[in-house]
Amino acid sequence: MSIDRPVPRGGVTRIAPYVPGKGGDSGGKVFKLSSNETPLGASPDAIAAFVAAGAHLELYPDGSSRALRDAIGQRYGLDPARIVCGAGSDELLNLLAHAYLGPGDEAIFTEHGFLVYKIATLAAGGEPVVVPEKDLTADVDAILAAVSEKTRIVFIANPNNPTGTYLPIGEIKRLHEGLPRRVLLVLDAAYAEYVRRNDYESGIELVASYPNVVMTRTFSKIYGLASLRIGWAYCPEGVADALNRIRGPFNLSGPAIAAGAAAIADEAFVQSSAEHNSRWLEWLTRELEALGLKVTPSVGNFLLVHFPSDAGKTAADADAALVASGIYLRRLESYGLPGALRLSVGTEEANRAVVDTLTVFLGKA
Ligand SMILES: *Cc1c(COP(=O)(O)O)cnc(C)c1O
Repeated sequence: MSIDRPVPRGGVTRIAPYVPGKGGDSGGKVFKLSSNETPLGASPDAIAAFVAAGAHLELYPDGSSRALRDAIGQRYGLDPARIVCGAGSDELLNLLAHAYLGPGDEAIFTEHGFLVYKIATLAAGGEPVVVPEKDLTADVDAILAAVSEKTRIVFIANPNNPTGTYLPIGEIKRLHEGLPRRVLLVLDAAYAEYVRRNDYESGIELVASYPNVVMTRTFSKIYGLASLRIGWAYCPEGVADALNRIRGPFNLSGPAIAAGAAAIADEAFVQSSAEHNSRWLEWLTRELEALGLKVTPSVGNFLLVHFPSDAGKTAADADAALVASGIYLRRLESYGLPGALRLSVGTEEANRAVVDTLTVFLGKA
């Protein structure tokens, strides 16, 4: 039988399209707490830089994102030559998969790991290897046990989305020590700025010390620039070289480069955003537990809230009640967690609206 139309190769048709968090498009007041966006907007400096960049939209941007890499390098004391910027860290995760995975090569990630790892792996023609977690937390022994001759990448979000759990740096080091040196360890630290734990590190030192560790970061979360699509990776020399060969020559827009550079310099803004988050993350955890709900302890800007399986009280029922009040959380069927909803920390008004709505929903008013 002849094929009468173009057919995408192997893994492409195995990709389940990414479903973004919902927000309402109805007229009324809506609280979008479904995508881990910050409720505090972006730094005024970043917005001013973005607006100023609007004066020269006719020009191609600097293809090396130099100003942004310099600003990141200055903020963290890193060599800008080893920083690669991307259109969101999503692009960088995909580029890493395309650079290091060929047909049949395996990429390992955990049971409730970030969905982009699977998409990137399949899109590159690689084979996803999903390993179990322990208490909704990545399990280093399970990851190491899954390593085979074909393993090329281990993706790990630390902290992880959607669980909110993390691995202490000691566990990350143990994972790295157990991996063959041909395996690239990708540390996705999208929520690093929110974490307040003495035993947490984003992985900068590991990247500095080894040729097989890369750390990705994003401007989409605490910096409040999700719409601009800005991510960065701190890389060993060889990885930076590979990413720079395969990325688009102008993969960040001029306004994104300008706004990102201004955002990272405004440390006071990041500090106050982190304080808002800590305060309301604790408050939400306490209030939801007081309602009898199980909440997975989180170090990010979101919470995994577990609902009972009793008819009328499930996560799907709670979601319906919240949506009826204009409150959007993230359903987690696609993450294999149908009994839970993910709640992003919002403004005080939004956080109180969530608790009030769930109080009524659970009949505790
Ligand atoms: C939100 C998020 C990102 C960021 O993606 P961008 O493409 O930079 O917006 C990366 N990793 C994880 C685990 C996330 O939750």
